[in-house]
Amino acid sequence: MMLSERRSLMSTIAFSAVALSGCNDSSPESPVEGNGTAKQATISRGVDLSLFAQGAFSQAPKIVDCETAEGTATTCYELATSGAPAGREPGPFCPRTTRDGAEAGGAWFSKEGNGDLVDITGEFILKLSDYYGDENWLVYDAKTNKVRYTATKEACLGAARPDVEAQYQQNCIECELSYLDDDFSLTYLIPVTPIPADKPGRVRTVGIALDGSELAGPAPVDAILGSYTIAAFDDCGGHINAHQGYHYHSTTGCTDTSDKSDDGHAALIGYAADGYGIYAMKDAQGKEVPLDECRGTTDDIRGYHYHAASPSENMFIGCMHGETVRQAGASAGGPPEGHQGPADGEHLPVAE
Ligand SMILES: [Zn+2]
Ligand SMILES: [Zn+2]
Repeated sequence: MMLSERRSLMSTIAFSAVALSGCNDSSPESPVEGNGTAKQATISRGVDLSLFAQGAFSQAPKIVDCETAEGTATTCYELATSGAPAGREPGPFCPRTTRDGAEAGGAWFSKEGNGDLVDITGEFILKLSDYYGDENWLVYDAKTNKVRYTATKEACLGAARPDVEAQYQQNCIECELSYLDDDFSLTYLIPVTPIPADKPGRVRTVGIALDGSELAGPAPVDAILGSYTIAAFDDCGGHINAHQGYHYHSTTGCTDTSDKSDDGHAALIGYAADGYGIYAMKDAQGKEVPLDECRGTTDDIRGYHYHAASPSENMFIGCMHGETVRQAGASAGGPPEGHQGPADGEHLPVAE
């Protein structure tokens, strides 16, 4: 399973849909005669560009003709971004010494794989062997108490390889936006009007957050940990690589935005590649609603929409309810140094 995740490096964002087995045994989107609830599932609100943060896009959004992977001709928003989250500086990611507290570092998936992220404190780095039950972990210098982290562009790129070079194992991985190519950009094509798919699908890039950052597919956690590295997130649940820029693997509230409905519903965090909204897991009262296998549900105000998984689940939604566009346009500039593998979707095992 790791191989499929090692695929990557991409200069092209592709929302390529892949049939998701085990996800096709029901048809929640089929309207049922005389059943009002089921009919609501066909309501398609689509992307509301006014809810994105100022500066989320590097060019004015356009509406263009597009075709979904399922072959439907439609129109799409063409959204271009610079790979930086609008309105804030990413980080911090890795603490610098084993004495640093939570404010000096970011966060990482809990080993349980659900619930909140865990803080990457100096103590967390110190106790990685205990945490993962593997005494080989040593991401710090025992003499100086300094945390080993990727402090240069070379180290960031070197760690972001399908096979992590030995010298970059035992590291807390972090990268800076300044490492991105000057002409770095990402382009997303999202159907203007969501189109329910015949059966749920899966895409490598989940969607786009309201600050313009990518909502990425699952991080290759087994490969990351297998190299004795931590691909540190900041407290917002994102990190940087040379191919996706700053991107999220987790949602911790940083892009939460009211959808203006004022009904106590959970906040909007972004949009999936099929054009349906992705909302926070819980509403204002801390409650969750029953969801389908894609983590979707339908209400009168929003039509079909998703609610994100918990921060440590390494996913946002379970599958794609709607059709998605296969090739969403290329980024400016050529592939980054060290680029190898198919130009599509998922990251490298480590630094991404
Ligand atoms: Zn909802
Ligand atoms: Zn990543």
